[in-house]
Amino acid sequence: MGQITLNQITKSFGDVQVIPPLDLRIEDGEFVVFVGPSGCGKSTLLRLIAGLEDVSSGKITIDGKEATEVPPAKRGLAMVFQSYALYPHMSVRKNIAFPLRMAGLDKAAQKEKVEAAAKVLNLTDYLDRRPGQLSGGQRQRVAIGRAIVREPAAFLFDEPLSNLDAALRVNMRLEISELHQTLKTTMIYVTHDQVEAMTMADKIVVLQAGVIEQVGSPLELYHTPRNKFVAGFIGSPK
Ligand code: ADP
Ligand code: MG
Repeated sequence: MGQITLNQITKSFGDVQVIPPLDLRIEDGEFVVFVGPSGCGKSTLLRLIAGLEDVSSGKITIDGKEATEVPPAKRGLAMVFQSYALYPHMSVRKNIAFPLRMAGLDKAAQKEKVEAAAKVLNLTDYLDRRPGQLSGGQRQRVAIGRAIVREPAAFLFDEPLSNLDAALRVNMRLEISELHQTLKTTMIYVTHDQVEAMTMADKIVVLQAGVIEQVGSPLELYHTPRNKFVAGFIGSPK
């Protein structure tokens, strides 16, 4: 579960093509980072995979099944939004349970899944607080918890740490990497931060103006960048 293939997908907004035909294969269980400068199409690509935007052409398959026509809620993927997307008037427990409540799961099953997620995220002692009574890092963990309870085939993160201060960012980076090791679920992580890409990824996808410049492990990109852009971006001279 969690193998995703993009086959010649494109995206245009009006007359402007922001993603020219693009192919990519993401393996089950991989931690893939989309990295590139602001405006290069990272969020658009993630939203196409999530189904929050429709592709203009091409095909997306998730675990061998064509996903292009499948609505977002049925794709089996969970997007992790920045922590400010939490419901301020609801407890942590209710925030995490929200997708389960929407899916009509019974109370006992909700409780079990929420408490299991809270345990993984070290939130057990905070379940009855409201988001406003938590630190930034804890709030981000609640946002991740809301994704975990859905048991997705893949997690999609769009710059989840950009609101946090530098020290907290380093912590959360480690926590998300640990979470990946625990869950072994495919994760796609969007960032414009080279350090995040280099430290978290199994596979980095470097984007420029909607085009994949190179795909490879952090070591491959560092030692054998394909061009000046990749070299400059990853920070090794060529
Ligand atoms: P990134 O996440 O890498 O910063 P985006 O995917 O947000 O980049 O944007 C890629 C390009 O697509 C940008 O030029 C942006 O202005 C454009 N774009 C994104 N969303 C829309 C939209 N809804 N309508 C028109 N243009 C958009
Ligand atoms: Mg973006």
